[in-house]
Amino acid sequence: MIVEQIWTGNAYRNFNYLIACPETGDALAIDPLDYTKCLAVAKERGWTISQVLNTHEHGDHTGGNQGVVKATGAAIIAHKNDGGRIPNMDRGVGAGDVIKVGNTVELECLDTPGHTMCHICLLSHTDQPALFSGDTLFNAGAGNCHNGGHPEELYETFSSQLDLLGEDTLLYPGHDYLINNLEFTLDREPDNRAATDMLESYRGQDPDNALVTTLSQEREMNTFFRLQSPAVVEKLIAEFPELGDKPDAKAVFLKLRELRNSW
Ligand SMILES: [Zn+2]
Ligand SMILES: [Zn+2]
Repeated sequence: MIVEQIWTGNAYRNFNYLIACPETGDALAIDPLDYTKCLAVAKERGWTISQVLNTHEHGDHTGGNQGVVKATGAAIIAHKNDGGRIPNMDRGVGAGDVIKVGNTVELECLDTPGHTMCHICLLSHTDQPALFSGDTLFNAGAGNCHNGGHPEELYETFSSQLDLLGEDTLLYPGHDYLINNLEFTLDREPDNRAATDMLESYRGQDPDNALVTTLSQEREMNTFFRLQSPAVVEKLIAEFPELGDKPDAKAVFLKLRELRNSW
């Protein structure tokens, strides 16, 4: 499996992806908003884009679909319940469905509601797994729930799916929000050494050559994975006594998500 992370350079800081089979040159485009750039990269690498996967229905993820389809005739794949919102969908997928790319790549669909209620993440069946997480999980952060999502569902997705992924899983999110998110982690947990070090190392990084984290790193510096951290919990309790002495993981997650909205 070859992964090409494509930086759009737009105001929303979107990442697009091409996933290619090294044997056949067949490729899948994930959320190819900057379709011109995606098509150019595919051409340069000698790849043929035969499928487009939208992680969810927001315009900054689907806006390039028709440009890719017009140039390549690619099939559009998205969450099976998103047909009404994504025009010209060819295939609807749900939990456990597998998308094949060429003859070497298999991507498993995870049904991950929260950012929106129809959101798909892809998990590669490779020696070192890779998660294409759309707007569900970001480097050092979690997706918001303002536009069709729900924080309780997002918590469920984290606790019942993302928490179970292996430590060496590589993370490929839909946006570059690394720096802002690290600053939020440090606002919540000022002594977090991993977040401090990462902020120092990657402030001003070139998004064309962005850091790719593992889930192991995320669990150290992403506050939404640190619901049991005594420092995170103690600070929350001090500021929000209504949480009680021993808030459970869900209450901590929901409070963090709420604070991140206005931070
Ligand atoms: Zn979105
Ligand atoms: Zn987005």
